[in-house]
Parts: sequence; C-alpha cells; structure tokens
Amino acid sequence: MAAGTATVTAAALVTDMVKLLGPERVFHKDVDLKTYTYDSSFVSQINNFTPEVVVMPTSTEEVSRIMRYADQHGVAVTPRGAGSGQTGGSVAVRGGIVMDLSAWDDIVEVDEVNMQVVVRPGVVHAELNNHISSYGLYFPPDPGSSEWATIGGMVANNASGLRAVKYGNTGQYVLGLEVVMPDGQVIRTGGLKSKALKSVSGLNLTGLFLASEGTLGVITEVRLKVWPKPPSRAIVVAYFDRLEDAAQSVLEVFKAGILPSGIEILDDGAIRSVNLFKPQLKLPEVEAAIFFEVNGSKAATEDEGRQIEEIAKRRAGSVEMATDAKRMKELWTGRQAIGAASARAKPNAARIFAGEDVCFPMAKVPEALRRIKEIGREHDTMVVIYGHIGDGNMHTAPIIDPLKPEEVEAAQRVAEDIHRLALEIGGATTGEHGVGFVRAAFMEEEHGAALTVMRRIKDCLDPKGIMNPGKIWAEE
Ligand SMILES: Cc1cc2nc3c(=O)[nH]c(=O)nc-3n(C[C@H](O)[C@H](O)[C@H](O)COP(=O)(O)OP(=O)(O)OC[C@H]3O[C@@H](n4cnc5c(N)ncnc54)[C@H](O)[C@@H]3O)c2cc1C
Repeated sequence: MAAGTATVTAAALVTDMVKLLGPERVFHKDVDLKTYTYDSSFVSQINNFTPEVVVMPTSTEEVSRIMRYADQHGVAVTPRGAGSGQTGGSVAVRGGIVMDLSAWDDIVEVDEVNMQVVVRPGVVHAELNNHISSYGLYFPPDPGSSEWATIGGMVANNASGLRAVKYGNTGQYVLGLEVVMPDGQVIRTGGLKSKALKSVSGLNLTGLFLASEGTLGVITEVRLKVWPKPPSRAIVVAYFDRLEDAAQSVLEVFKAGILPSGIEILDDGAIRSVNLFKPQLKLPEVEAAIFFEVNGSKAATEDEGRQIEEIAKRRAGSVEMATDAKRMKELWTGRQAIGAASARAKPNAARIFAGEDVCFPMAKVPEALRRIKEIGREHDTMVVIYGHIGDGNMHTAPIIDPLKPEEVEAAQRVAEDIHRLALEIGGATTGEHGVGFVRAAFMEEEHGAALTVMRRIKDCLDPKGIMNPGKIWAEE
C-alpha cells in the first residue's frame, strides 16, 4: 500500500485517519476512492491507481500530523489539488494516502500596497484573480485550466500558460512558501517575516519546491507577488498558407521590440477541428493561424497591435486586428475552442493527453511541427497541434478511439517519438505540465548526472520515500 515499508493495514490506516481528522474528511469507500484514481492524464484512464484512503486536511497542524503518522508507519502520501494535471502526478501509483487540499481555499491576505497575496493551497487560479481584480491586481500566469487548477498544484508544477511569453511561469511570482516536510516538520521559505519582493538570503528553498510535484513536501501556504492589471488589450489574428511564414512572423514581431502577452498557434488540423466545432467562426483553412495578444495602456496596445498587423501582413494571406471587447472575444474564441474542438478532427474519436506539452527552441518550431506530423503519419495517428508558439511550447494532441487497443498503442508510440524529438533538437520534454508518472522514463536522457543530484536531494529530504513515490524518478 505504501512506499514498500508500510507497517499498518489499510483498515487501521482508515481508522487512524478518522481519529486525526474526524469521519467527514476521510474517504475510503470504493466509490469515493475511484474518483481519485484519475487526473486529466490518459495514463490514469488506462491504469487503476487506487489509494487506501483520501484525506482532506484544512490546517497546517492537520497536514503535519498526517505526515508525522505517514513517516512513522511508512505510508505513501500523494498531495492533490484539483487533479487537472496531465501526467498522473496526483494519482497514488503506490497506494497509501491521497491528501486532497482542494477544500483548503482561504485567501489569507491581500496586501494591495505591497502587491502581494497569501493563499492556502486549494485556492483556484480564476477565483484568486476574480477576488483581487477589485484591487486592480492580478496574478499573470494563465493556465488553460484556470477555472480548476489550484495555486498549490500550480506551484508544485511551476505551471504557466497562454501568457508565459511575457509573464513567465508561476515560479516567478512565488515569494515564499509554507511547506510541511515528509517527517511533519513545518518550514517557511523566503524569510519568516518577509514581505520583501526580492531576497537572495540563503539557499533558494522556494525554488527547490517549484516543480517538485509533491515529491519533497506538502505546500500549505503560498505568498505570491501580484501585478497591476493592464487596462487595455488588442488582438491580431493572422492566417498563413505556410507554417514557416507563421513562425517567421513571430520572430519578426520580437525583432521589432514588441513583447506580446500571448502568441498562440493553431495548425491546419486544429483549424479544421475548430471549424467543425464552431462552424460560425469560418476560420480560413490554411497551414497556420497565429493569435497575438498585447496588453498595457490603450495607446500602447493600439500602437503595438498596428505594428504586429503590419509585420504579419508581409507574409500572411489575411490579418485582422481588434480592440473592441466583443470582436476580441470572437477572435480569441478560435483559440479557446481548440481544447474541446480537437476531438472533432476524426469521427468517433477522442483527444487524449499524452505527450502534449513539449517545448522547442523558438527557431526550430517549424521543423519540429513538420516532424511531428510525419511521426503521426508513421504511426497512422492523427495529431492536432496548437499552443504557445511565442515560447515554443506546443500541445500535440493525438486523436484516437481509446477503445481500440491498436490506436492506444500507436498513440503511445507517437508520444514517445515526440518526446525524443524534443530532446534531439535541444528542447524539453515538458514546458509546463511536468514529469509525473508519464515522463519519468525520459528523465535520465534529459538530465544525465543532474538527475543523480536531484535524487540525492530527494533522498535527503524524504529518506523513507513516502512523498508521492513513483513520480519523476522512474526506478521508484
Ligand atoms: C484543459 C487543461 C488545460 C491545461 N492548461 C495548462 C496550461 O495552460 N498551463 C499549465 O501549466 N498547465 C495546464 N494544465 C495542467 C494543470 O492544470 C496544471 O499542471 C495545474 O498546475 C495542476 O493543478 P491542480 O491543482 O489540478 O494539481 P493536481 O493535478 O492535483 O496536482 C499536480 C501535481 O502537484 C502536486 N500537488 C498538488 N497540490 C500540491 C500541494 N499543495 N503541495 C505539494 N504538491 C502538490 C501533485 O502531487 C501533483 O504532482 C491544463 C490541464 C487541463 C486539464
């Protein structure tokens, strides 16, 4: 049930958790446990990783007591936010306890003057932004899962999204953390009393927990830097007959000294899917559509929007710029709809999350996208491509019938080849979704000796291997 050393039966574990938390926040019936065998990854759909018990603590003291218990009894603990992760990160591949932190969603403090907030791990990204918008503030990282993803999960994955090209990832906003360590000890990173926006005091422990995916400790509080909300936006959408022209236009926008807040691509398959899903949009069926967004003051966004429009016109078949809210929403719908639309690319098929967030060097994006299409053809699998071309982070979505084993197998080969392609051309296997269970096999090839150092840090902080075992390190 646990990290291989559990000294307690499943029944005793449940009884002891009820003693710690009371019956209302401890779940152990089959029907409840089933819910926790999934996150948003395909790997969790084709496996059955069932925990013995699910607990929902809502205080640091409770988390600490659970961890002390798990440490004493050698029980695996898998922290979980909303389960929107796409790598099997929050499913208990070695059984034991799933610690669901989604109910612990207090916004502890909004410090308008110092432009920072303190939140508990279960606060949902969109809810935080709704709350602080009345202060004229916002937290810029913008995952497509904004309505579900928790801040704890975003920190644990160092999540980013549509606006990373300008604003970077979650980690750039984390000023400090409260973390419960695997033995139950509670630490604060970034300074016990600090409200400083910068600190280089001591080792960067905050950085250590970013993208640690619940393998080093449980994040129980987050102090985030937030920014003034830009008053204005503009959108430019350009349609290109050739992928290479689309990518070149993106580079030319950067060369002009413009840093858009979003640069997104839909490939031809993605465009077709969106047209099937929302025919009223009538997107031109070309090789690539690029969506540029700029934000800032009204004058700056209009000026930058116009400049992007001019640059794109040199290579694009058609270009449209919008600054009024209604038209911007309509134009952006093409990009927003793709998550749901991608399954339309093929009758009776579904889009699966497998190998879906590789990141390529900017200059190699066109080459990489052509190669991904070839990989799809080699394995007779349709792959729809879209994503954050502004930072080279691509979503490559296999479209298959998940009930056909041969299609599942082919999709897995496609995902593997796409990961290897990313490594071959100097990219990364994951730009935002993390390693979890699905990418552990690539870690050695990607990191070499650095993986051994990561392992040593893990062993030092979690000597019993109880924190989210089976993730990041394949040998677990
Ligand atoms: C439709 C869709 C769109 C998405 N778009 C994006 C995107 O644009 N950008 C992006 O980066 N990601 C995206 N994702 C992936 C996902 O939403 C992010 O990885 C998100 O950060 C996960 O948050 P969560 O609360 O759901 O965490 P979970 O999925 O529950 O957990 C993710 C990992 O974090 C760990 N964890 C969770 N909470 C804690 C905690 N308090 N302490 C320690 N460890 C913890 C878990 O153990 C697990 O390893 C998308 C997912 C979907 C389904």
